[in-house]
Amino acid sequence: MIPVTTFSGQTVAVFGLGLSGLAACRALAAGGANVVAADDSAAGIEAARAAGFPVEDLRSADWSRFAALVLAPGVPLTHPKPHWTVERAKTARVEIIGDVELFCRERARHAADAPFIAITGTNGKSTTTALTAHLLRAAGRDVQIGGNIGTAILALQPPSDERAHVIEMSSYQIELTPSLDPTVGILLNISPDHLDRHGTMAHYAELKARLPASAQRPVIGEDDEECREIIERLRLANRSWVDIVSARERVGHGWYANGTELISRAPWAGILGPFADLAGVGSLRGRHNIQNALAASAAAMILGLAPEEVAAGLRTFPGLAHRMEEIGRAGATLFINDSKATNADSAATALASFERDIYWILGGKPKEGGIGPLVSYFPRVTKAYLIGEATEDFADTLQGKVDFVRCGTLDRAVQEAARDAGTSDAREPVVLLSPACASFDQYRNFEVRGDAFRALVTALPGIVLRGAAAP
Ligand code: ADP
Repeated sequence: MIPVTTFSGQTVAVFGLGLSGLAACRALAAGGANVVAADDSAAGIEAARAAGFPVEDLRSADWSRFAALVLAPGVPLTHPKPHWTVERAKTARVEIIGDVELFCRERARHAADAPFIAITGTNGKSTTTALTAHLLRAAGRDVQIGGNIGTAILALQPPSDERAHVIEMSSYQIELTPSLDPTVGILLNISPDHLDRHGTMAHYAELKARLPASAQRPVIGEDDEECREIIERLRLANRSWVDIVSARERVGHGWYANGTELISRAPWAGILGPFADLAGVGSLRGRHNIQNALAASAAAMILGLAPEEVAAGLRTFPGLAHRMEEIGRAGATLFINDSKATNADSAATALASFERDIYWILGGKPKEGGIGPLVSYFPRVTKAYLIGEATEDFADTLQGKVDFVRCGTLDRAVQEAARDAGTSDAREPVVLLSPACASFDQYRNFEVRGDAFRALVTALPGIVLRGAAAP
C-alpha cells in the first residue's frame, strides 16, 4: 500500500467504494487523514463498514470540513451530467480528485524521480501496460503494475528511485488527475468510444491529450487523425522529445515496422534500424500489436533498457487472457480466445491477424452496426459458428458470403468448429472466438465467456495447451 501523507490531519471524503475507492480509504487513513466513506450502493457501503471506515450520507454532510473529494473513476464528473457529489463539492469549493492524483502527489513529495510510465488510448491499454511491465521485469527491474488494470494504484508498493510504476489510465482517471506528471506518457490511439461519458470527440481527445502532454517523454501513436493533431500541437509547443509510434510500414522516422520487424530511428537508444522481430510471438499477433509492442519498447528503452533486452523480453511475453489468447493446439489446429472483442472493431483486429482458414465463433448480444463493417475480412473465414441473440442478424450479413451454421451455444460451436478444422487440409486452421458482441445474453461478462471457451477447448481430445510440453 502507498500511504497518502499529503492529507495528514485533514478530512477527506471518498465516494465510490469499489476496489480502488477502498484502497484510497486505506491509503489515506495510513497516511494520517480522517476518511469519510460514501457510496450510492449498499454493497459499497457494506464493504467500507466491514473495513472499519466511517460511512456518511454526503447529501446531509457538512462539506466545509472536507479537504478533498476523492471520486471513483466510474462516477461522472462532467458527462452525461455531473454526479450530485460533484455539484456539492463545487459549491463548497472542495477539490475533486482521483486515486492516481493521490499517487502523483505522494511521488512528488517522496520520490519525484521515481520512474512512472502512464498509458492510455482507446484500444490496447491493457496489452501495452502488461507488456511494458513484462519488458522491465524481464530485464530485472523492480516493477509495480496497476491502475485501470489489476491492482488499484494505491494498493501497490510505494514509488522509489529503483522501482518503476507502470500504470494504465482511462480517460476518467486522467480527468481526475490534474498533477499527472509521468516520466513516460504513452498515448496509443484515439477512436470514438465512451462518447456517452465524454460528450464530444473533442472533449474525449482533449482528455487523452493531457497524458502525453504532461509527461517528461511523450510516446504517441500517429496512426489516427486525433493523435496526429496532438503530436502537431506538441511540436508547436517546442516539445522536442516526442517518440512517435506507427504500426504502418516504412514510415522512416520514429518507431515503425517492416512486416513483423520492429524498427527505430532513436539514436539516444543506440539504435538506427531493426531491433526486434515479432515473427512467431503468438501473444503479439496482428498489426495492432505492432503499435503496442513499439510503444512498450520505446518506454522500456527510455527507462534505460538495452535494445537486446527489449528484443528478448518481447519474445517471452505471455499475453493477456481473452485478448488473442492462444489456448493451445489440437494437431494443426490453433485455438484462440479473443472474448474481449465485444464489438466489430476489435473482431476486425483479430480477423486481420490470420490470413486464411479461420473457423470463426461469433455472436452474443449484438451491438449497433453488427458485423457489416467486417465484410472485407470474410474471405479469410472458412466457416462461421453463430451463438446467442445475434444469430439471425449475423446470419443475414453472412448469407451468400460465408458458409455458416447456427450453433446456439458456445459448447456446440466449439465442438463443430474443432471437428471441421480438424478434418480440413489447411496447414494451420484457426478456431477463433472473437464474438463482435457483448456477452450478457449468455454470460456475466467477457471474462466468464472466455473462461468457458478455454474450458471447452481444454477438454477436447488431443489438445496440447500452450506452454505445456508436447506429449
Ligand atoms: P484496452 O485495455 O484499451 O481495452 P486491450 O489491450 O485489452 O485494450 O485490447 C482489447 C482489444 O483491443 C484487443 O483484443 C484488440 O482487438 C484491440 N486492440 C488492442 N491493441 C490495439 C491497438 N493498438 N489498436 C487497435 N486495437 C487494438
